[in-house]
Amino acid sequence: MSTPPMQMSEARRFQQLKGHLSYLKLNDAAEALNRVLDQARTERMSMTAALERLLEIEVEATEARRLAARERFACLPEPWSLADFDFAAQPGVDEKLIRDLATLRFLDDASNVLFVGPPGVGKTMLSVALGRAAVEAGHRVYFTTAADLAARCHKAALEGRWKTCMNFFAGPKLLIVDELGYLPLPEDGASALFQVINQRYLKSSTILTTNVGIADWAGAFGDATVAAAMLDRLLHRAAVAGIDGPSYRLRNHQTKADTIRAGVNSRAS
Ligand code: ADP
Ligand code: MG
Repeated sequence: MSTPPMQMSEARRFQQLKGHLSYLKLNDAAEALNRVLDQARTERMSMTAALERLLEIEVEATEARRLAARERFACLPEPWSLADFDFAAQPGVDEKLIRDLATLRFLDDASNVLFVGPPGVGKTMLSVALGRAAVEAGHRVYFTTAADLAARCHKAALEGRWKTCMNFFAGPKLLIVDELGYLPLPEDGASALFQVINQRYLKSSTILTTNVGIADWAGAFGDATVAAAMLDRLLHRAAVAGIDGPSYRLRNHQTKADTIRAGVNSRAS
């Protein structure tokens, strides 16, 4: 049976439209085209409504892809978000300051954030939570440790890729450098970190976590001049969150130890 000319041209037009969408790499829209056209027919949607529905599908898919790409790029080591942080368990944290940081206004004026405190108090968790909020808000974020950053810059210098390496660390809207001071940085490590901080200075934000109190930086990073210059850049526009409360991890271990002890005692009695 031959197809009426009207229907045939509609079929061809459908194929062409699908082809246009694919050519423009609007693959999700191309895939949804048939479904949306059926829906438009049965629900008597206006042309505007149908087009809007079709492009909305593409926009949503693109947003999801970009979010996934930003998440992969960011290398956040844990899935933590601010909702996971128990403020009641950490009286050493200024909750108001953290909630203010979570609005991400600090990214707009390229302010830095310093989390200073002993191990286990939640410095990494808070920086990861802020990093996640920034990724979700559409920003490019990159998480690293001070030791990794130093090692990477050292390797890049040996391989003649110093400029590329510096450009890489200049790129993200938010750079998180975790665990400064946990491991002694080699001299070229401290200098590399300074150069990274310096080139981001007033342009984009850096979150730094450290167990070394600011007053002790000069002694902690080999070269006192480099340490002073780094602090100068970092603190010019910065929120400093000193966390001096109890270690959450130790507290948890303590609870576990108590539970085990209680179990042993109850079995013994
Ligand atoms: P730091 O970086 O200061 O050494 P972390 O951020 O790694 O500490 O925290 C240590 C562990 O304790 C992590 O598993 C973290 O999720 C948990 N933790 C720390 N503080 C809190 C808190 N206030 N609420 C919930 N979990 C916390
Ligand atoms: Mg940590």
